[in-house]
Amino acid sequence: MRALALLAAAGRGERLGGRLPKAFVEIAGEPLLAHAVRTLGACPGVEGFVVAAPQGMEDETKAIADGPKLLGVVTGGATRQDSVARALEAAPPGFDAVVCHDVARPLATPDLFAAVLEALDSADGAVPGVRVPDTVKRVAEGRVAETVPRAGLVLAQTPQAFRRGPLERAHRAAAEDGFEATDDAMLLERAGYSVVVVPGDPANVKITGPGDLERAAALLRRG
Ligand code: C5P
Repeated sequence: MRALALLAAAGRGERLGGRLPKAFVEIAGEPLLAHAVRTLGACPGVEGFVVAAPQGMEDETKAIADGPKLLGVVTGGATRQDSVARALEAAPPGFDAVVCHDVARPLATPDLFAAVLEALDSADGAVPGVRVPDTVKRVAEGRVAETVPRAGLVLAQTPQAFRRGPLERAHRAAAEDGFEATDDAMLLERAGYSVVVVPGDPANVKITGPGDLERAAALLRRG
């Protein structure tokens, strides 16, 4: 299968509290976007990528992402799902596998990209999942309504790999129905496609708040 990647880099990063969109926030001396671009450069199974950029920062995005694997830069949408859908529309023909990845995860490794792509041999989609270490409780109005059994629960990460046809159909169906998901796999699950889980990487943290930046920088320094 020939694979390309879609980089979701259009978030405003408001929870990080700074003025810069998240993709341009620096960690270990480089913007998050540059970390993702370098990782994709080291993935032999990913031939190219399209980036969804924050509106008004398309040129800056291109400057960082430029290189032999860059296939295009599109303006992101109001939601992550919309940004991915726009990048998917701009993806050139000739690729039958698509890896969706958030720049908010600078510690994703080329091995993880390879693992999700390999899992497409037997499924329409593949996501990395890590076991839930804590006890999970559902809370309503400050009271515990339920302790959710954590057996079988995983936390889903990116990169997530998909066969292109199912991903396109699932995004189209969600857009028609006005359905918003928090990851791309959820769209395929909803459309009845098979999505498998491969072992995720606990170090592949997602940068959401300022504390995450320090944590990820420390992990990056450790190598
Ligand atoms: O906001 P959140 O941290 O959940 O975003 C996850 C990823 O989706 C980030 O890499 C962010 O840049 C991207 N995103 C996007 N377009 C949006 C919102 C988020 O590409 N409108």
